[in-house]
Amino acid sequence: MLNIQAIKKDFPLFEHEKNLVYLDSAATTLKPRVVIEAEKEYLERYSANIARGLYPLAEKATKKFEMVREKVATFIGAESAREIIFTSGTTDALNLVARLLTSQLAAGDTIITTVMEHHSNFLPWKELAKKNVLDFRVIPLTEEGTIDIEILKKSVDEHTKIVALSAISNVLGTINPVKKITTLIKNINPNTIVIIDTAQAVSHMPINVSEWNADFVAFSGHKMFGPTGVGVLYGKLSLLETLPPVSFGGGMVLDSCADETLYKEAPYRFEAGTPNIGGIIALGTAIDYMESIGMENIQTHEHALTLSALKRLQETFGENIHIIGSTHPEKRSGIIAFTLGGIHPHDIASVLGEYNICVRAGEHCTTPLHRSLGLHTTTRISFSIYNSEGDINKLITILEEIQTIFNK
Ligand code: PLP
Repeated sequence: MLNIQAIKKDFPLFEHEKNLVYLDSAATTLKPRVVIEAEKEYLERYSANIARGLYPLAEKATKKFEMVREKVATFIGAESAREIIFTSGTTDALNLVARLLTSQLAAGDTIITTVMEHHSNFLPWKELAKKNVLDFRVIPLTEEGTIDIEILKKSVDEHTKIVALSAISNVLGTINPVKKITTLIKNINPNTIVIIDTAQAVSHMPINVSEWNADFVAFSGHKMFGPTGVGVLYGKLSLLETLPPVSFGGGMVLDSCADETLYKEAPYRFEAGTPNIGGIIALGTAIDYMESIGMENIQTHEHALTLSALKRLQETFGENIHIIGSTHPEKRSGIIAFTLGGIHPHDIASVLGEYNICVRAGEHCTTPLHRSLGLHTTTRISFSIYNSEGDINKLITILEEIQTIFNK
């Protein structure tokens, strides 16, 4: 059991917004004080550049920065810190893989993704396929709201170069069986590169990329209690070592005077230019913070809230509410998207907003998914460690009012 009152005290926003009910952590999590302080400490006390200066402040910044690389590697079960590339977020990480893999593509290759993907894990692949005239396949959902594994099985063959899918859907909340899917794909074609978008999983469940046997994994700092503008691309070292850099500049070069420029080894050759140093140092603090609570405890807490919210919403609104996503609550994370009667999700979100209840309304950057379900928009709530049953009570009370007002 998490002590929600104590956890809320860790987040300064709750001091400034006394009656805040924050149900939009899938968009971005709130930031704990320790994370804000870590970034501030870098900016105030040792804001030197990294991997360049030879004076103590620069050495301190470099050491702290590289310690985060080690920390991220351990946190996600990578075999080496050299497998961790810092990016500006999930979107940047996925676009980077798409550019890195351009050199690996050949005529006749196939790229596969799924209909439940966020645009960040859909468009880079669609564009890559288009640019290289490759076959682009999109795996549909089963009626239960999970990836249709039978169709995936039939779609993977000797031509499959890339399969990209999410660990958790940002709309359906579906938890995909990543290890099972990766094993299935690699059994059919061991050369297929499997890419996992972990944006919605990384702060909600324990992750082990080595167990998954994924080739690339992407996530954002701001969805795991860290700052915006930082993210991670994990890549298997054996693969990274074969890939040429695609961005060029400072910090990634050994010798640029010879005809052939000599680049640093992975991951540094993929990190041209000055990164968001303070943000990455604060990301390390965000990992410490999550670990102090415990990833399993976080998962248990959010799961209990999800089960309760699903039950309460169904009991209160009956046939008027249409909850999308897996019909198996056990396969869901703390994300619930729904429609309520004929009320426009924007109206629902605006009225809830007047009560300082923050939810998301729209397509949630998943047009293919919404269209495949015959929907334009949905309302989405999403849980994190600072949410409680009290938040569900307030949500349901105001949703009942909204239903009464709009049905008059
Ligand atoms: N993938 C998923 C599943 C997401 O939910 C999001 C953001 O909501 C992204 C990718 C993009 O993340 P970012 O905007 O931090 O790059």
